[in-house]
Amino acid sequence: MAELYPLRFRPIFRRYLWGGRRLHTVLAKSIGDGDDYAESWEVVDHGEDQSIVAVGPLGGKTLQELVRYRGAELFGRHHPQPSFPLLWKFLDANQTLSVQVHPNDRQAAQLDPPDLGKTEAWVVLDAAPGSLIYAGLKRGFDRPVVEREVMRGTVELCLHRFQPAVGDCVFLPAGTVHALGAGLLVAEIQQASDTTYRLFDWNRVGADGRPRALHVQQGLEVIDYGRGPVQPQTPQATDQPHIQRLVECDKFVLDRWQLSGSQPAGGDHRCHILAVLEGAVYVDGDAAKEPLGRGQTILLPAAAGEVRLESRQQVTLLDAYLP
Ligand SMILES: [Zn+2]
Repeated sequence: MAELYPLRFRPIFRRYLWGGRRLHTVLAKSIGDGDDYAESWEVVDHGEDQSIVAVGPLGGKTLQELVRYRGAELFGRHHPQPSFPLLWKFLDANQTLSVQVHPNDRQAAQLDPPDLGKTEAWVVLDAAPGSLIYAGLKRGFDRPVVEREVMRGTVELCLHRFQPAVGDCVFLPAGTVHALGAGLLVAEIQQASDTTYRLFDWNRVGADGRPRALHVQQGLEVIDYGRGPVQPQTPQATDQPHIQRLVECDKFVLDRWQLSGSQPAGGDHRCHILAVLEGAVYVDGDAAKEPLGRGQTILLPAAAGEVRLESRQQVTLLDAYLP
């Protein structure tokens, strides 16, 4: 049986009306024709949506198979898990996404079929001038007011918004109302859930000429009305000078690395998702034997131990892992 090694997966592309071309033009992904490439799912184990190992002796295996049959080696201290609890994506918002909210674990467990809640975080990779993020309610907007504005199709009035800069990280615990604005390209770490309640879709119609479904009642039920204006996270220093902590919550930790030369990663009996934002880096044990470039993602299984990263240039990468 092949030892677990740093795993690259085939990206899964999602096309939605708000997507664009930047998954190719900025992140060099091999998308097809069409100007509606919205998401690249890099690491996912959620029902039928399965990451497939791209290279090496485990090529062709799904992430669910690794979780099921190689869980101890994959997760280390976090074994066992029924499925891979995190989902990593890149999103290209050529148009603004719907105003939406996600349930928490307790609320999502009541669904049929049950799902995980969805706490998520974004890191901005590219921002057209004037691009906006909507996140959290303005102060003083309680449930009756939000409900009234949702019914009128003017929920935008209730939302805090700001113009993000490249590098900003926005943390959105389940229950936070949010919308990713037109012009933004982001990396997203989230719980492996696909439960989204749309409160408003900007009066758009889908490819079939009809408006996409809204989920107003479900959405109003799960909004955290105490979640006021959301500002970008303030990165925190860690005991390693090349690593900043962007998010630490009970679902995941998200760190940003700036490195050049050689640095060890992993080796702490848990698995890590690494995604390159700038530059390119060799990952020891990577079956592709070529540098991991901008917009590419690799999973370090716990059993791979400490893995060396090497680069001659300045590299920025994100590291997501279970707390
Ligand atoms: Zn969301």
